[in-house]
Amino acid sequence: MYHGLTDQDDQLENYHGKHLHIQTFKKHLEYLKKYYSIIPLDTFVEHVLTKTTLPKNAVVLTFDDGYESNFTLGFPLLKEFNAPATIFLTTDFIEQKQFIWPNRIEYAILTTRHSSLRMPIKNEELVFDLNSDEAKKKAINDIKILLKSLDHTQRLEFVDEMEKSLEQKLMFNETTPLTHRALSWPQIQEMSQSNLITFGAHTCSHPILALCTSELMDKEITTPKKIIEEKLNKNCPLFCYPYGGEDSFNEQTKKCVQEAGFCCALTTITGTNDALTDLFTLKRLGTSNLVGMDNFENKLLNSRRTLDRLRKKLF
Ligand SMILES: [Zn+2]
Repeated sequence: MYHGLTDQDDQLENYHGKHLHIQTFKKHLEYLKKYYSIIPLDTFVEHVLTKTTLPKNAVVLTFDDGYESNFTLGFPLLKEFNAPATIFLTTDFIEQKQFIWPNRIEYAILTTRHSSLRMPIKNEELVFDLNSDEAKKKAINDIKILLKSLDHTQRLEFVDEMEKSLEQKLMFNETTPLTHRALSWPQIQEMSQSNLITFGAHTCSHPILALCTSELMDKEITTPKKIIEEKLNKNCPLFCYPYGGEDSFNEQTKKCVQEAGFCCALTTITGTNDALTDLFTLKRLGTSNLVGMDNFENKLLNSRRTLDRLRKKLF
């Protein structure tokens, strides 16, 4: 599971390492090409549905959200290595209607000249210290956790107010920092036409689906499918839950995704998938700049060992 990519070192805006360094990504591809079979996500789903054997050590590459760096930095490498991948698009981000809310929080706090933030939340006024980079990182983390308990509208209202108070706001224009830029439809169409990259839906506005009303949940799941299918003139059967942890989706969400016509849904729950895995709770392995190549290799190796043990038990 990847998000954005970067060719810059030690940027404050990428302190969490979510935008993987392109040299690291290249090492990943070299390693995967040597020891694994990189297959498209829809091929994996097809194998599960038809109960046919997968290539040995099969892996699937996925990118969440739809960052422009997937095209500018990732696509050339994916072509060079002939590595298929799926990119999950948050369509309000791609259509430049709104940025994903955690990214808005990060940007406003990291770039503000204010040394503190005062915000009312649930009838209480909270004060966040923004005096140092470390304090800012802590404030971002605390605010993200607090906001997860609000409903989607209240959460977005909070972020609007916070941006006003900090006098910093991400904008869709030439000033948008590289790490926050969204893919454009022409870039998406070019990648789609290569047949190497497939596109899946990752909602319109990146809400926590489990906390949405049925109406909003339905809209967030069905709308991006329609938009992507219209823009690419291809079926869009792949879905990925925003945040993707155990508490970000529930049985109702899974049912809604199935009824919308998707054939699988990906989570961020750590683990490996096999023929018995529920296609609407697919697990993934994440990575970031904060861990080394050994961590990446070990995660894959451990997953393979788990699968081998399972296989021995079954046969
Ligand atoms: Zn996401």
